[in-house]
Amino acid sequence: MDPLNQVRDPMLLESIINFAGMIGLVGMILLSIVLVFKMERLRTLNAELAKLRRAFEELDEQAKLIVRTDLELHRAQEELDKKVAGLVTLQKLTRLLTTTLDEEEIFHKLDERNICELGYDRALGFTRDGQGSFLVRIAIGYAPAEAQALAGEFTGQPMIVDKVLGKSNVFASSDSDRTAQEIPRLLKALGLSSFVCAPIPQKDGAIGALVLGYESPYTHLTDSDKDLVYVLAAQIGQALENAKLFEEQWRAQQDLENKIQQRTRELTAALQEIKAISKRKSDFISAVSHELRTPLTSIKGYASIVAAGKLGELPPAAKERIEKINKHSDNLSSLINNLLDIARIESGREVLKFEAVNLKALADNLADMLAPPMKDKGIEFSIQIPPEVPLVRADRNQIDRVFINIVGNAIKFTPPGGRITVAARLQDPQTVEIKVSDTGIGIAPNDLEKIFEEFYRVDNEVNQSAKGTGLGLTLVKYIVEAHHGKLSVSSQVGHGSHFIFTLPKA
Ligand code: ADP
Repeated sequence: MDPLNQVRDPMLLESIINFAGMIGLVGMILLSIVLVFKMERLRTLNAELAKLRRAFEELDEQAKLIVRTDLELHRAQEELDKKVAGLVTLQKLTRLLTTTLDEEEIFHKLDERNICELGYDRALGFTRDGQGSFLVRIAIGYAPAEAQALAGEFTGQPMIVDKVLGKSNVFASSDSDRTAQEIPRLLKALGLSSFVCAPIPQKDGAIGALVLGYESPYTHLTDSDKDLVYVLAAQIGQALENAKLFEEQWRAQQDLENKIQQRTRELTAALQEIKAISKRKSDFISAVSHELRTPLTSIKGYASIVAAGKLGELPPAAKERIEKINKHSDNLSSLINNLLDIARIESGREVLKFEAVNLKALADNLADMLAPPMKDKGIEFSIQIPPEVPLVRADRNQIDRVFINIVGNAIKFTPPGGRITVAARLQDPQTVEIKVSDTGIGIAPNDLEKIFEEFYRVDNEVNQSAKGTGLGLTLVKYIVEAHHGKLSVSSQVGHGSHFIFTLPKA
């Protein structure tokens, strides 16, 4: 049975309905309140979600930035590593290039290993010869014939010719310009994905170019590639310049050496000729002197007999003439003797008898011998040979003649009241120097060089009145030189002269 039907009381039923309505209303209100709360909560959650999403997006951005930065850093590190490796190899190559002065050798230094160490896959280097055609000097990664054709391709590009060879600038395949369409074609021909081409410079401009390239499309050209290839090509240029200079210098030296050899040959031939002439002259003088000496001895002998009155008493005028003949014969005889001595010493026919000679004793003897003429002229003579001066290795008689000639001249050319000094000292451990000084008339600079020549006599008052042959100093010179010594003179007109000669220590 229906329970409602059981509620017969309408009042009760209404009350129940009202109650139920109330309950429903309250329920509705409660539900609305709950709904409002829920809505509010949802809104808050939505706002938080949006916040979270924003934070997430920000984090995502940052993560991306970090990855990007990391990639950049990695790339920069790689770039830096490449640069450092390139610089180390470049430094090594620079050292290698500067140690070479041969042109071929310079290009050989850039071999496959070095190019690889620089970080490149292929290399091409070419230079222009005197006729303007290009010659391949480096071909790494290319066969010779292929390299020659590629060099032709390069030098056929007006842009590269102008920029690299004309203006000495560096060119990279990544440079964008009007030849951009031609570059891919060139890259294909070269089998490269990128390249750098730098001029090989010389004093008067670029003489060629160096091309270094990468095969891999993942390797990108940077500025450091340009710098590195530019510097390397410049180093090659410098090394070529040095080689050229060296070659020029070497050629100049060879030329000079050839000229010197030629001159030496000519001089040797001239010397041989002079020696032969000199020998002929000595032989001639010897022969003539010998031929003169015999009749002269007869003339002198007969003159002495006649002068001594052995052929009858002579009238005074004849006696005077005969005495003159005698005196002139003596002069002629001394001249002939001097000539013969010079010829003998000069030709080496005179064998010197070397012995240890005491210069002080020799000078003392000389002082005794020449005392009368010095006394006549009132000349003061002094010997300054200290005991520590060693003995000399000499032919006593010949050195005696040297002293007699030099001191004899000093007496002749020193006015009365003058002074003559003979001094000696050890010039070096093996040589003794002897110096004869006077306070005489002196010798003019012009005559100084000539007084050792045969028959040379200075044109002065003393020589006009005094007799002389002009052979004394010539003989002295030959004797000193035969002793391996040196003879020299210094003089001042009006103040005197110094004759200096050296002799070896005994
Ligand atoms: P000579 O004495 O026979 O003329 P020498 O050969 O000995 O020949 O000397 C050559 C010349 O050198 C002399 O004529 C003289 O003019 C010059 N001469 C040599 N010694 C001296 C000296 N001590 N002072 C000045 N002139 C000198």
